[in-house]
Order: sequence, then structure tokens, then C-alpha cells
Amino acid sequence: MDNIKPDLFFRDLFEQTGDLIHILNMEGQIITANPSWLFHLGYSNEEVKLLPIYDFIKTEHHELYRNNRKEVTKGYQVEEIEFEMIAKDGHSILVKGQISMLDNKKDLPYTRAVLRDITAQKKIEQQNEVAKQRLSKFLRHAPDAVIVINEKQIIEEWNLKAELLFGYAYSEALGMPLSELIIPHRYREAHVQGMGRFISTGIGPVLNKTIEISALNKSGHEFPVSLSISNVKIEDKWTFVAFIADITERKELEALANQKETELMQSQLLDEQKTNFLTIASHELKTPLTAIKGYTQLAYNLTKNDQDSIILPFLAKIDEQTNKLSHLIAELMDLSKIETGKLSIHKQPVEFDKFLQETIESLRQGVKHHPIVITASAKVTLAIDAARIEQVVNNLVNNAEKYSEKESAIEISSYIKEHFLIVQVRDKGIGLAKENFETIFDRFFRVKEITNHVNGFGIGLFICSEIIKQHDGHIWVQSELGEGSTFSFSLPILNENEVAAGNNKV
Ligand code: ADP
Repeated sequence: MDNIKPDLFFRDLFEQTGDLIHILNMEGQIITANPSWLFHLGYSNEEVKLLPIYDFIKTEHHELYRNNRKEVTKGYQVEEIEFEMIAKDGHSILVKGQISMLDNKKDLPYTRAVLRDITAQKKIEQQNEVAKQRLSKFLRHAPDAVIVINEKQIIEEWNLKAELLFGYAYSEALGMPLSELIIPHRYREAHVQGMGRFISTGIGPVLNKTIEISALNKSGHEFPVSLSISNVKIEDKWTFVAFIADITERKELEALANQKETELMQSQLLDEQKTNFLTIASHELKTPLTAIKGYTQLAYNLTKNDQDSIILPFLAKIDEQTNKLSHLIAELMDLSKIETGKLSIHKQPVEFDKFLQETIESLRQGVKHHPIVITASAKVTLAIDAARIEQVVNNLVNNAEKYSEKESAIEISSYIKEHFLIVQVRDKGIGLAKENFETIFDRFFRVKEITNHVNGFGIGLFICSEIIKQHDGHIWVQSELGEGSTFSFSLPILNENEVAAGNNKV
């Protein structure tokens, strides 16, 4: 090893290195170039020998190279320079390196250049720059406020939305500590401590998740924001990117929704309490009423043979009023059943024309001042809860009686239409305005004009519509003010034979 000449090492280095080395005489001609130089530029040693180096340097860089070399030949220390060389096939190579000179009086002076091919590196740098600019453009126009801060929480990026949201222009925000700009005073210390803790321990509980917090704008107004912070390590230093969105509107909507929910819950609770009260009250009322009715009957029976008795008409009045009261209590009980989902329907096959006849017959005993006429009656057997449908017919006929002049006729008809039996109750009474056609079936609805002089609760039609609904039918009204009303309801006919039975006039 020891007997290898140092020369050999240098030659070996000259030949094996990846750097491009050329040696020029004082006229700037190439004395020699190393294999890497020749390889990169695509020449052989013979092809370049004694050619001016400028033949291989891009024209616009001649001056740079020449000046630099001049400095070197004057004995000055020079910085590295970057310039482009042209290869034999015409493509350019970007190189970076230093020119130096040897002038030891013993040999002929020469200059040398040791260069690195930085074409690929430069390309990557340029691509990075483009990507950086593109990203910066994206961030600038992002829909959320985007703020980039460094480890010392100094603002490095501040996009348009951040300008808009916080009121600070880009130039005002850049270089400022984040906490002094947008963090409310009471959170500043915690923020600074949190940053410090993350830098020293790597623990950052708010990183990479979305939190809701208050922020401060330039005019000192505090408002709610959603904040997501991501962290990246670039060249051994942490960078934090904060995405911030104003959630004032959402918060207001949430508060409104919460308030509405609370109100709803309160009204549901109230409704429940009211229904409970209704159930208990109607039951409690029923018991004494049954007793009153029973004793009235007893008193009537005991006195009915006494022609001179003056209490008989009073007893009849008591009986009539208790009937009204028990009807009212029955309605209240039905209402509470509907509200608790306990109104049960038990369907049985019923010959409808017979059923209708019987129902009207018993109604005639109570409705003394109006002729009740059946104008058409369909012969059909239906599966219905006869007691409940009777209740509907009674209600409609009683209303017809209640809302029309004495002696005016009440007409009942039933006919088949498609797969439904339609039942109609027609009166020649006060009628209804069109705007009430739908609401009339709502709970507690009463037409304003009549509330003062006709007794009622406004629940009869609501109960009717619930009963009909439970039979998969429909109830509706046609009417004209002053002309009378026709209340109709439909009941589905499921059996084809029943439909074929047709519609018979009575
Ligand atoms: P109520 O008769 O006890 O008030 P209903 O639920 O039976 O309760 O009726 C609701 C409202 O519909 C009545 O208050 C009345 O204004 C109106 N109405 C019902 N039937 C008729 C009718 N045949 N003619 C005119 N208005 C009626």
C-alpha cells in the first residue's frame, strides 16, 4: 500500500468521481476532462481537447463563467456558481460548482472546475415550488379560514376567508403570534402552554380533531367557530395548519332546535297530564251520574202513576239533562281512549241496510222535531264495529238536528261506489263555510259564529273521524252556508260478492 504513489489516488479520484471536472489552460481551452464530464456531455477526450470551454457552456452563461474565472485568475476566492452546459446531443445540463486555479510557478498555470450535475435536483425543486404555489392558491381560496403557524405560533399563512372572518388583512396577520390576534384573552395562556407542551412532549390533545371554541375578530367580537388543527414536521420543525369555520348560524339553529325540543317535551308532558286528567275525571264523573240516573228512574217509576204529581215533569227534565251529561262524559272517555291509543274496534259482519234502519229507528225516539228519512239504502254485508258506526250515525244526525231549524228534514242514504259503501247524512241547516271543511274534524274545533249559542265541545266529529279511520274509511263534508250540509263517510267493502249485491232503494 505504502508504495502506491499519491498521484495514483488523485488520478483514481479524478476518474471515478461522479462530479464533472475539467482543467483549462489560461486561454480557456480544455486540457483534460474527467470521464464523468465526458459521459454527461457525451464526448470523448479527443473530441474536446483544446476546444474552448465556452463551446460547451450555454451562451447566456458565458459572461458569468468568464467573470468568475477572471476573479479566480486574479487570485480571489469565489463562491459556487450555477450555469448550464450543452451536451453533444443538444440537451442542457445544469451544473453547480467552483472554479479554482493552480499557479505554483513550477507547472504551467491552469484553472479547474469541479461541478455537480444538479439538473434533476433543480427539476424537483421547481416542481416543489409549483406544488407549493398551487397549494398556497388552494389555501388562499379555501372555503374555510386557513391559518398556518410555526412552532412559535407565528402566523405564516392567512387566507382570504381568514381575512374575511377575523377582519385582519394578510399583511397585518403575517408574522403575528396567533394567540394575540384571534384567541380570546381567557384562553391565551392555555393555548401557549398547550403549544409548549406539544413541542416538548409530543402530546397535543386538540390536534387532528375538530373542536368547537370561541374566536375573536379584529373588532373584539367573540363568536363560535369549529377548529381543526393538523401538524406536520418540515425540516425538523413543526408546522400547524388550522382550518376554522364560523358556526354562529349553526349554533343559533341548534339553540333554537333545543328550545323547540324543550317546548315540545313540555307540551307533550302537559298533553299527557291533560289526558290523564281527562281519563280520571270522566271515570269519576260517570259513577255519581249513574247513581243520579238510577235514582231519577226509581223516583219516576214510583210517581208515574200519580197523575197529580208535580214532580214528574221535573224528573223528566233531570233524566233528559243526565242523558246529555252522560253523552258528554262518554265523548270525553272516547277522547282519552283515542289519545292513549286505546280506542279499540271489534269488527263483525253486519247487514248494513238492516243495521241502518234500526239505528235510525232508535234515533227517531230522541229526535222529536225533525223527520228523519232514509232515501236510499244499499244492501250489503260489512265487517264493522256496529256500536261504533252507530255512534257515528247518531253523532251526524244529532248535529244535523242541532244545526238546523226545527221540522226541517234530515235525509239519510247509503250507496255503493267502487269498493266502498258511502253513507250520507243531509240537513237543511245553517251550513258551513268552505274553509272549515277540513278543520271541522279536528279536536275541539267549533265554528266561531255558533260557539256562543249552541252547546258543544267540538269533539264529536273528531271521534267520528277516528272511528272511520280505524275502519279504513274516510269522512268528509259538503256544504253551503245557509243551505245545509251533507256529511258523508265511506267504509271499504272487501268482498266482491258484497259489491255485486248492488244498491237498492227503500
Ligand atoms: P260540537 O257539535 O259538540 O260542537 P262536533 O265535533 O260534533 O262538536 O262539531 C264541530 C263543529 O262543527 C260544530 O261546533 C259546528 O260548528 C260544526 N258542525 C257540525 N255539524 C254541523 C252541521 N250539520 N251543520 C253545521 N255545522 C256543523
